[in-house]
Amino acid sequence: MQRSKSNQLFEEAKQYFPGGVNSPVRAFKSVEGSPLFIKSGNGAYITDEDDNKYLDFCGSWGPLILGHNHPKVREAIVETVAKGTTFGTPTAIGNTIGKLILENNKFIEKLRFVSSGTEAVMSAIRLARGYTGKNKIVKFEGCYHGHVDSLLVKAGSGLATFGESTSAGIPDAFAKETLVLGLNDLASLMDTLESNHDIAAVIIEPIPANNGLLLQDLNYLVWLRQQCDKHGVLLIFDEVISGFRVGFTGAAGYYHIEPDIITYGKIIGGGMPVGAYGGRADIMAHIAPDGPVYQAGTLSANPVTLAAGIATLEVLLEEDFYPTLIGNTEYFVAKLNEHIETKGYKMHVPTVGSIFWLAFSDERIVSSDQIDPKSMDHFKALHGMLLDKGIYLGPSGYEVGFISAAHTRADLDFAADTICSCLDTIFA
Ligand SMILES: *Cc1c(COP(=O)(O)O)cnc(C)c1O
Repeated sequence: MQRSKSNQLFEEAKQYFPGGVNSPVRAFKSVEGSPLFIKSGNGAYITDEDDNKYLDFCGSWGPLILGHNHPKVREAIVETVAKGTTFGTPTAIGNTIGKLILENNKFIEKLRFVSSGTEAVMSAIRLARGYTGKNKIVKFEGCYHGHVDSLLVKAGSGLATFGESTSAGIPDAFAKETLVLGLNDLASLMDTLESNHDIAAVIIEPIPANNGLLLQDLNYLVWLRQQCDKHGVLLIFDEVISGFRVGFTGAAGYYHIEPDIITYGKIIGGGMPVGAYGGRADIMAHIAPDGPVYQAGTLSANPVTLAAGIATLEVLLEEDFYPTLIGNTEYFVAKLNEHIETKGYKMHVPTVGSIFWLAFSDERIVSSDQIDPKSMDHFKALHGMLLDKGIYLGPSGYEVGFISAAHTRADLDFAADTICSCLDTIFA
C-alpha cells in the first residue's frame, strides 16, 4: 500500500510540531510506524492523503459513535455555524442540550460545559476539594484522566502510595497530593480511606478503557461507593469514554451506581472539542457564580459544539440505538473469540457496550500490572498487517477499539475475517 503522501506530510509536520503531531499517541511510536494523514471520513471509513480507504475502529478516539460525517450532525453544525461561531453569552441551544441530558440521565442534576475532557476532570477535582475542604485525591493505576498535573502520576515505589509523576514538569508537591492504588483491590482502598483523613475524592474510570479494557467487578464498584460514603469522600466517575458509549447514562447507568460527580467529553460534543462535568445539585452549587469554586471558559458551551452534541444525542435516544450497536459489537467480538478459542491462541477480546480490546493474554485482565508489555509485539505486527488490508486500529495495543453505528454487519464480517487471518499468520 502506497503511503508516500502521508510520509511526506509527516516529515514536513516535524518542522512545525513537536514530534510532528499535536497529541503524542498520533505519532505511531508504539507501533513503530509513520502516521496516516487522514483527509476525510465517511460513515465507518476514513481516507488518507494517498487515497487509501480504511475501516476505522478508532473513531477519533471515541467521540464518533455515529461514525464519520453523520448527515444529522453535519447539518446541525452547518446550520448553527451560519449564525456565527461564538458569542460568549448564554444561548438557547445551551438550554436545549441541558434539558436533553438532564431529563434522560438521573445520575446528574446540574451540568457545566467546558472545552476538553482534561478540563472537565481538572474542574471536577477542584470542585471536590472545594466542596469537602479536603486536599488529597485517590486515583487508580491504569486509569487515564487527561493530562491534569496531579493525575499524571503512578504508584510510588515506597511503602506509602503517594504518587510519582509520570511526566516531567510536575512538582513533587502536586504529585504528593495524589494517592495511587491498584484497580479491583478492595483492601488497599480500605486501608487508604481509613488511614488518611484528608481525601477529597476518589476518581475512577468505572470502565477503564485507556490502558486496555480493564473491566471491574460490579461488587468492587458498589463497595467503592459505600466506602466513599462511609468516609465522607466524593466519588468521581470519569466517563469521558464510557459516558453515552455503553448506554445513554454511561457506566453509572450500566452499573446502577450514583457517583457524586461525573465527567464527560468525547461523544457529548458530537466530534467537536468538548468536556462537561455534572453531579448532585448541592455539590454543583459550589461552582462560580453560585459558589466559591472558580471555573470559567471563553469557549465553554460553544454553540457549534452543542449543536453537534444535540444532533448526536438525539440519535442515541432512539429506541433501538444501543441494542443494535451493542448487538453488532457482540457479534463481531464473538466471531473473534470463537476463532481464538478454536485455534487456542493466547489472547481474548473483552467487550462492553461498543468497546472492545485485543488482549494478548488468555487471563481476564482487571488491572494494568497484568498486562505483559512484551505482548504488545503481537499488536504491533497486527496493526501493520491490518493497515495494509484497509483496517485502521488506534496505533497502540493499550488502546481500545470503538464500533460505531455506521459499521455494518458486512463491515464487521470483513474486519473479523481479516483480523483472524492476520492472527493465523502472527501465531503460525
Ligand atoms: C480522553 C479522556 C480524557 C481526556 O479528554 P481530552 O478531551 O483528551 O482532554 C479524560 N478521561 C478519560 C477517561 C478519557 O478517555
